[in-house]
Amino acid sequence: EKAYDLVAEMLERIEKSKFNAYITVNGDALKLAEEYDKGKLEGKLAGIPIAVKDNISTKGMRTTCASKILEDYVPVFDAHVVERIKQEGAIIIGKTNLDEFAMGTTTETSYFGVVRNPHDENRVAGGSSGGSGAAIAAGETVLSLGSDTGGSIRCPASFCGVVGLKPTYGLVSRYGLIPYANSLDQIGPMASCVEDLALLLEVISGKDERDSTNAGKPFVFTPKFRKFRIGVISEMGGNDDVMKCFEEAVEVIKGMGCEVGEVSMPSFKYALAAYYIIAMGEASSNLARYDGVRYGYALPQLDSWTRYFSKVRAEGFGSEVKRRIMLGSYALSAGYYGKYYLKALKVRTLVKNDFQRAFKDYDLLISPTMPSLPFRIGELADPLTMYKMDVNTVPINLAGLPALSMPIGFVKGLPVGMQVIGNYFEENAILSFALELE
Ligand code: GLN
Repeated sequence: EKAYDLVAEMLERIEKSKFNAYITVNGDALKLAEEYDKGKLEGKLAGIPIAVKDNISTKGMRTTCASKILEDYVPVFDAHVVERIKQEGAIIIGKTNLDEFAMGTTTETSYFGVVRNPHDENRVAGGSSGGSGAAIAAGETVLSLGSDTGGSIRCPASFCGVVGLKPTYGLVSRYGLIPYANSLDQIGPMASCVEDLALLLEVISGKDERDSTNAGKPFVFTPKFRKFRIGVISEMGGNDDVMKCFEEAVEVIKGMGCEVGEVSMPSFKYALAAYYIIAMGEASSNLARYDGVRYGYALPQLDSWTRYFSKVRAEGFGSEVKRRIMLGSYALSAGYYGKYYLKALKVRTLVKNDFQRAFKDYDLLISPTMPSLPFRIGELADPLTMYKMDVNTVPINLAGLPALSMPIGFVKGLPVGMQVIGNYFEENAILSFALELE
């Protein structure tokens, strides 16, 4: 009865939950738990409850991207990562809440309502993978999967006091991840401790020919602590609450025998702008597929195709998604391409170069994950203020590097997260360091 009892308890908690972490609960979860208890489920994750962000395709289970336009969309295939966790015997508890199409930092743009932070229900759980972070913190799952385009795994990990990793671009197949911005998106693991997270990364990483950007490398965790050279990034800061906690963590790291220095990344002052131009440009092109014919939300036939298409999209998309489609189309339009998109790509190269320069002197780089404590729901009223909260997380996606967020303490009863960045495919170093510090 071991798995059965655990899953039953979690399902009950979800039903009574105030946090709104789930959009859909898996009706088969208890049946799977029973199978495990009868010895019929085997693998590295056998009998372990896992939550899957609702922009990752699950065969036969609706996948909404927290959008009205996909409210009733049921995929006919599993994402690569879902195939893998099933093969390893995990029990999918349900699909977690997110910002609409993963566009946001708080889950406030979800069609299904905001996720509340288990440490303070009047505050956000972070985003866009807020449901995946909150579900772990609230004991409504053991493991979860998120996706990270500009911080969407690390932000909720930080705000919910859990660990979350954005892997090296290409380590985890994106097959079946409903795209936001393909050149930045990565699926990654979230857990309550480093060892659990590493195990999930082992399962989801590796070769998949259905994603042309997949590196084909499996990840194997072989923890090895050395006296890492740690660089603190001067351009990545936070408010006083966050910095106090971060500076204490730096002292602990020095105490572990690591050499700590400061490193400056001049290109980072343009990274946020470059990120939003690239992300919105790719999003505007990706979201053209939602036309009311092939997927999801549909209307009775109208006399003109253009009117039909416009009406479906006007009714189906929320305002943040519309803003991004418009800004993205603008930035990519013939007359402005050179002024915005091309410039953004150049900044992207500078960001990559700055990181490579830093990795000559340092093994790992650190910063606060988020510049502030979890916001109150509704606190960030205008989009630009919201975008600015991603300042510490987006350069990592521009460069395609791996980065972890791990809890380093509490301020005013709220968790603070530290970001640990490694060079390409250096997940083993990141996780070894984090395991030692944890
Ligand atoms: N907050 C960022 C954005 O809105 C990152 C989102 C994400 O990583 N999916 O684009």
